[in-house]
Order: sequence, then structure tokens, then C-alpha cells
Amino acid sequence: MSETSFADLGLDAAVLEAVTAVGYETPSPIQAKSIPALLAGRHLLGVAQTGTGKTAAFALPLLSRIDASTAEPQILVLAPTRELAIQVAEAFTTYASKFRQFHVLPIYGGQDFGPQIKGLRRGAQVIVGTPGRLLDHLRKGTLKLNSLKALVLDEADEMLRMGFIDDVEAILAKTPENCQRALFSATMPPQIKKVAQTYLRDAAEVRIESETRTVERISQFVLPVYAERKLDALTRILEVEPFDASIIFVRTKAETTLLAEKLSARGHAVAPLNGDLNQRQREQTVEDLKRGKKDIIIATDVAARGLDVPRITHVINYDVPYDTEAYIHRVGRTGRAGRTGKAILLVTPRERSWLRTLERATNSPMESYQLPSPADLQKMRVQQFETQLLAFAEDGKLPKAMALLDEIAERNDMDMAMIAGAMACWMEMAQPGALPLETPEALPEISTAPRRDRKGPPPGKKSFRKGPGKGFKKDAKPGHRKGGPKGKPAGKGGKPPSKRPAR
Ligand code: AMP
Repeated sequence: MSETSFADLGLDAAVLEAVTAVGYETPSPIQAKSIPALLAGRHLLGVAQTGTGKTAAFALPLLSRIDASTAEPQILVLAPTRELAIQVAEAFTTYASKFRQFHVLPIYGGQDFGPQIKGLRRGAQVIVGTPGRLLDHLRKGTLKLNSLKALVLDEADEMLRMGFIDDVEAILAKTPENCQRALFSATMPPQIKKVAQTYLRDAAEVRIESETRTVERISQFVLPVYAERKLDALTRILEVEPFDASIIFVRTKAETTLLAEKLSARGHAVAPLNGDLNQRQREQTVEDLKRGKKDIIIATDVAARGLDVPRITHVINYDVPYDTEAYIHRVGRTGRAGRTGKAILLVTPRERSWLRTLERATNSPMESYQLPSPADLQKMRVQQFETQLLAFAEDGKLPKAMALLDEIAERNDMDMAMIAGAMACWMEMAQPGALPLETPEALPEISTAPRRDRKGPPPGKKSFRKGPGKGFKKDAKPGHRKGGPKGKPAGKGGKPPSKRPAR
């Protein structure tokens, strides 16, 4: 993470206020490098992928330069898919939340022209759209770019891959000569380089370098999962992994507390670690982790800097890191003092390209993390129940309990199996999921990667990249219940979004 603060970057006061409100602690490396260049009005070439914080890297400075009092399109963002266009438009709304007057309009194919034309007539300072539909509007004259101050090509290589490059160039040719331009791309194929050479002038170049560093003694795993299933995945990981202490990395301060609350409700001894804690609170949290009063810490990169707790056996990257350096620091929180450690990365379909980058940076492949199937999980829970039951069979209070239950059985004409069954149901109600009294289907599949018990090599021997290219399949069944060690019914799973091109 960079040492610069958002306040140092020279952003507009209202934009800075919005960033503080979202809870970002420090600018990500791409933000620290891009924001000053874009604020100075320079063209920019950003080689960065999703997850680096690139949206804010262009949205924050460009918003700082618009005239919010006029509703003419001043910023135009081209995105490859309708989903990305919506996501970027939402990010603009968040970062402009402290503006008095602000409209952003997402425009994509597959939607009626009517509402889009209405939106354009009403006026919006920022338009985010897919190339084909934007070009349609430019040709119809419903979108005018006379007042355009800045144009951004987001995920340029994706637009090329999806066959939109001619549309992109046609739009670029229609932008005003003095318009500021930024191009972001995860890779730089020749056609994208050519676009950059033609349309960017004296551009600042920002790259998120991936320095290679070996991560020794740490086995690295990856679990592909839809964003809305991450919590389910995490709860299951925590249920099946034999961890001593674990650190879970998220992006924002707000998320550290939110996730800590959710895991605490599921019976874990967990605490957040973020930049809002004062030195004393921070030391106390670390001490609690060292002494075993807490087993899980939910941290941001900044707050976990230099953390050295030998009992951390697991690092879980709930959110992907901003860059490889942050990743290497994160996984280095385990495998301390000569021990071995395990790092598990949750990666959403949009963040898949991180894998190769991280593998290259750490010079070691990531293995596909195999979550147990619902049936395996239930078997495991029965075993745990049996072990606990046997332990209680030696409890000193057992004779008294048996006498009491004998009385109840006799009074109600019940046999002991019925009494025990009723008690098991009671226990399951108090700890949903602790006993598999639901049908196996009630526990959803979470991972989107192919399972080892279907076909393929043994566990831990499969590189994620080989299989799940196609592996993000729809498997989510909403409305299930689940259980951690002391699980409670939790939020509903959502339907994964479909990523389809929108012309
Ligand atoms: P992007 O790479 O633009 O897709 O951003 C990935 C995620 O990182 C988004 O959910 C952002 O809200 C989040 N994010 C971006 N910048 C920061 C930051 N400086 N601090 C914390 N989270 C951030």
C-alpha cells in the first residue's frame, strides 16, 4: 500500500468527503499514481486489472475536474459489458454523493432506446456505456460530445476481445480534440498499443508492477466464487479448515467490522483490526490473538502491516489485494517462525486474471481449493456430534440427567430413543446446521470450480487455471440455511450475475 493519503492528492473537497464516507483508508498503488496525473489534466495509460482500484483511480480525479452545475456530458466511459457499465456508473454515484447536482447515465445494448433518450435529454455529467449502443446514440444525434472533458476506455483489451474495437475507434474519432483521455487495460496487445499511440498524447504511464518473490512454506489455494456467495464460502472454509488462528483480509474498515459481526454471530472468536483503532486497542487485539482469546482477525492491509503472530496458520484473502506486493505481505502473516501456513484466495469471475499475476509474482502455482460437498459436510457434522456426545457420556452430571429423563419418559410413555431424538432436534434448533437433520440438498454447492469427486486429479493437485476457465457456473440456490460451528441461519444466497456482452 502507498504511504500517501487521499487528502494529499489534491482531490475536490466533495469527492474527498465521499471517499472518506465510503471508508477507504489509503489510495491503492494505481490510485496514488494515476490521480495526480489525471488531476493535472494529463492523458493516461494504465496497465491494471480489475481489483486494483482502477475505477476510483480515474473516477475520483475526473469528477474533481467537472463543472457539476451543468448537466452536459463531461465524462464518457467506455466499458465492454453491461455489468461493468452499471458497476462503474454506481461507483461514480458513490464518489459524487456529496455533489449537490449530479447525474450519471449507464447506456448499454439490450435495453430500450426510450428511457436512454429520456435520460440523455434530462442531462447527465457522466455517461458510462458499451461501445455499440453509445455509437448508435452518437449517430442518432441523441448523445452529443461538445462539452466532453474526458474519455476513459475501461478494460480496453476486453473490448478488443469482444470485437468492439472498431466501434471504440469510431467513438474516439468523435471526441473533441482537446478532450483528456485515459486508457486502462490489463494487457497490451498490439491493437491496443496502436489505439494508445493514436489517441493518447504525452500520456503518463502507470503500471502495477509484479515483482517476483518466492513465498516459502506457504501453500497457496484459490477458490473461485461469485461475490454474493463469498460469506457462504468463508463460513464453510472456517468450518472445515483445522486452523489455529486465522487472518482474513478485506478492503475497507467498514467491512472489517461487518464481517467480524457476522462471524461472531456464527460462534467464532473474532475481532476487526482497522485504522480506526487507536494504538492501545490495536495492541489489545493483537495480544488477544496471540493469547488465543481471539482466533480470527479481520483486517485491512494497512492495519495488518508487520503483524507477527506465530499461531496464525491461515491467511484468507476474502477480497483480492490491490497489487502483488500487498498479496505477498498478506500471505507472509502466516508461516512465521519457521512454521508452515496456508493461504486461501477467494476470487470472483471478474477478478480471475489476478490468478496468473499472483502466480507469476510468487513464482508458485496456486492449487484449486476444494470445499467439501454438502454430503461430505453433513458426514463431518455427524462425526463431530458423535465425538461430543461420547465426551458428555463421561460427564459427572450424567446419572442425574438419566434419572430425570427416566422419570419424564415414564410419565409420558416414551422410550429413550424418542427422548434422545427430541433432545437432538432441540439442539439443532439452537445451533442450526450442527446436526444434518435437513436433506443434503438444503446445503448449497458454493465453489464454482470443478469438484475433485466428479472427475480429475486428486485434491490439491489441480491448478485452478486449467479447469475453471469455464467453471463459473450458476449453482447458487438462494434461501438455504447453513451452519458454522455454532451456525445460525444467515443471509440468502443470490443469483450470480450473468456476464454477457452488450452491444
Ligand atoms: P476496481 O479495481 O476499480 O474494480 O475496484 C475493486 C474494489 O476495490 C471496489 O469494490 C472498490 O470499492 C474497492 N476500492 C477501490 N479503491 C479502494 C481503496 N482505496 N480502499 C479500499 N477499497 C477500495
